Amino acid sequence: MTIAIIGGNSAGSFAAYKLAKSQDVCVYEKDDHFKKVCSGILTSSLFDILPVKKEVIINSFSDVVIHAPDKKKIELHFKKKDIVVDKEAFNRSLSEMAIDAGAHFFMNHDFKHLQGKKMIIQDNKLKKQKEFSPEYIIGADGAQSLVAKSAGMLPDRKFKLAIKAVIKKKHNNAVQFYPFIEEIAWSSPHDSEHIEVGVVAPVDKANLIFETFVKRFGYGKLKKEAALVPFYDSAPKRQQENVFLIGDAAGQVKATTYGGIMQGLKAANACAKAITENSSYEKEWRKAIGFDLYLHLRMRKALNKFTYSDWNRLIGYFQNEKLIHVLESFSRDYPSTFIASLLIKEPRLFTFCTKAL
Ligand SMILES: Cc1cc2nc3c(=O)[nH]c(=O)nc-3n(C[C@H](O)[C@H](O)[C@H](O)COP(=O)(O)OP(=O)(O)OC[C@H]3O[C@@H](n4cnc5c(N)ncnc54)[C@H](O)[C@@H]3O)c2cc1C
Repeated sequence: MTIAIIGGNSAGSFAAYKLAKSQDVCVYEKDDHFKKVCSGILTSSLFDILPVKKEVIINSFSDVVIHAPDKKKIELHFKKKDIVVDKEAFNRSLSEMAIDAGAHFFMNHDFKHLQGKKMIIQDNKLKKQKEFSPEYIIGADGAQSLVAKSAGMLPDRKFKLAIKAVIKKKHNNAVQFYPFIEEIAWSSPHDSEHIEVGVVAPVDKANLIFETFVKRFGYGKLKKEAALVPFYDSAPKRQQENVFLIGDAAGQVKATTYGGIMQGLKAANACAKAITENSSYEKEWRKAIGFDLYLHLRMRKALNKFTYSDWNRLIGYFQNEKLIHVLESFSRDYPSTFIASLLIKEPRLFTFCTKAL
């Protein structure tokens, strides 16, 4: 089977790696590099699906602090460390794995549109358009996916804006989360000498929120990087005939923290399984990540209704060793593994559940 994958970053390269062992796979990537605006923070669950090269890991940490408006905080010490990857090196190493498995990469090749069963790709170097008719097309072309647009999929997608900056600063290797600042704000250890500060917020407010947030750290003008992040919608299908969407192109991003690397890799795996085993991609991706993404979405719906006093109350409830133990032991990628346990240990958390409806 011939399979065209549009977009060669984490989701696209991992799908290519999984498929190239048994299929004829071509990856078309519009850029000549694998850079991406991303913090590169991943839970240790990554090691369950992928061997990660040591060279791409720039830091690891166990300590996370979650702040409330009244200055109360939850201090966590994860049983399994999170890692920080250099996102460009991580993406490149995935593409190398795919090439070793037999995939063909075409850099500087820009997907333009679908024309019936054909797709039009522009070679940006030769400034020439080419037509291809692969049996399957996988859109791994990020938040503003042209594959999705061209196939008429996910027509009502919504976005937030993530803005971040890296600062040279001594730090104690802990992530600080400020979940009450718009969608989320954070400072995280980048490498041994730098931290990263960032916010996710509505597109029209993000810049102002970022500028206000960094003043907390005593900073003014910083070299910022920004990118749109998709807001997950559980309803629409991610497959239409021979076109599949994975990763940010499919909006498969956690609505709580807006992290999506793991979810894109798992969707890529589900897509490869569906194609090689002739099963339903809809069933495969929903089985792999659907319920957890749905829980992240319900949590986001609840969090967006929180007042400062709700945040203070919630973080107050977490001054309890039993709850802290649950948060320290389970991966935040998979809330389905720990939400019930939290609710049993602290029934007052049920009072927040109505906000999720
Ligand atoms: C500031 C910020 C911080 C983040 N931090 C984290 C984090 O710490 N942890 C985490 O898990 N997630 C994080 N995320 C989210 C994460 O970066 C994404 O979920 C993930 O990178 C999506 O991978 P992807 O392969 O699906 O899409 P992308 O990485 O967006 O890749 C899409 C690829 O498709 C290519 N492409 C686009 N259009 C075309 C076209 N027409 N033709 C050919 N190629 C095309 C692009 O050039 C790109 O290479 C962050 C996001 C932002 C913005």
